Amino acid sequence: MTAAATSTPRTREALAELDRRDPLAGCRDAFALPEGILYFDGNSLGPLTHASRRRVREVTERQWGRDLIGSWNVHDWIHLPLKVGDRIARLIGAAAGEVVVADSTSVNLFKLLAAALALRPERRTILSEASNFPTDLYMAQGLADLKGAGVRLRQVAPGDLTAAIDADVAVVTLSHVDFKTGELRDMAAVGRAARDQGALVVWDLAHSAGALAVDLGGSGAELAVGCGYKFFNGGPGAPAFVYVARRLQERARSPLYGWLGHREPFAFEACYAPAEGIGRFQCGTPPILALAALDAALDVFDGIDLADLRRKSVALGDLFLDLVEQECAGMGLEIACPRDGERRGSQVSLRHRRGYAVVQALIDRGVVGDFRVPDVLRFGLTPLYQRHVDVWDAVAILRQVFETRAFEDPRYDRRGAVT
Ligand SMILES: *Cc1c(COP(=O)(O)O)cnc(C)c1O
Repeated sequence: MTAAATSTPRTREALAELDRRDPLAGCRDAFALPEGILYFDGNSLGPLTHASRRRVREVTERQWGRDLIGSWNVHDWIHLPLKVGDRIARLIGAAAGEVVVADSTSVNLFKLLAAALALRPERRTILSEASNFPTDLYMAQGLADLKGAGVRLRQVAPGDLTAAIDADVAVVTLSHVDFKTGELRDMAAVGRAARDQGALVVWDLAHSAGALAVDLGGSGAELAVGCGYKFFNGGPGAPAFVYVARRLQERARSPLYGWLGHREPFAFEACYAPAEGIGRFQCGTPPILALAALDAALDVFDGIDLADLRRKSVALGDLFLDLVEQECAGMGLEIACPRDGERRGSQVSLRHRRGYAVVQALIDRGVVGDFRVPDVLRFGLTPLYQRHVDVWDAVAILRQVFETRAFEDPRYDRRGAVT
């Protein structure tokens, strides 16, 4: 058990004191947070930063608006995917030149899984967990269908994964943090198990990049993708990123031969030849406005020690769980994430029979979390702008939702297209 778990401050004032001494306290001012909201969904959509708002305005009005197409050179738009990639690299334990920003996480998964299969041509299995994020499984299924020739996706139960890596597995694909349970995987151990069998791993960092100090290089990871709009706060539909370890870059190829991944896009050659380095994992023209928003959102990470970020995330999670146990006992809530902060990503997951309605009742009272079928309530922990007192207040409101049975109001059962 961690120190924080054994010594939860029992007063709001004690937590306010922790907030005053918090080395990350100043980061909150970088965000344009709406009044009266306790935001616990930064793991699904990070909030707007003042820097992104300013940058999008500048790129729209001064660059696109005034310099038009010349901006590709004058404002160096063309290299923005690589420049933002280098900024992300620093936050995920990669080296400069190992990350490029492009496309969506789903598309990038497809590209890397295809590259991995081509690097292991004698093998036919893509291995994953049945509980992995659906788009990861779907992209693998689509790729297997496209490849034919016996290529298949094999899905196993969590816990059975490393034992299932055999000589037919070309590539394992796994989320670094499980989107429902928040469980954090041991990247180095899974990587070793795969390497022992000659298999590659494609990591999905959607729920870990920007939330903790991912160490791709130190754990020997070969391939990874991740998300720009979650913990990196890049904005809705922000472009995603691709990581390929330097030692693989010459041999790894994107299956999507787009012109911006070409060695010389403006030679307009009839035949494809991949660019040197990570740039080959680009495909078409980058979405400059979205990329600029992401670039600016990363400013808040400048000068931040990711160890401080992680420490606070674990403390917020321990506090949340301690308070739930203390305040919401006997209300049918179960803890669905690891109790040990070191094994947990940057979220708290709870289960409740009426989970959907409970989350809607919370949102109505200004506590924004989300719900995942069948019964999981998720609360993202985002130390850059969350305070310890926010956790205190959120759990107090959760308790009130149970005490008043507010979640039984039938309007909280109505489901929107997005949950
Ligand atoms: C959020 C998330 C994605 C999202 O993929 P998109 O292509 O951006 O929609 C993919 N994988 C995981 C594990 C996620 O959590």
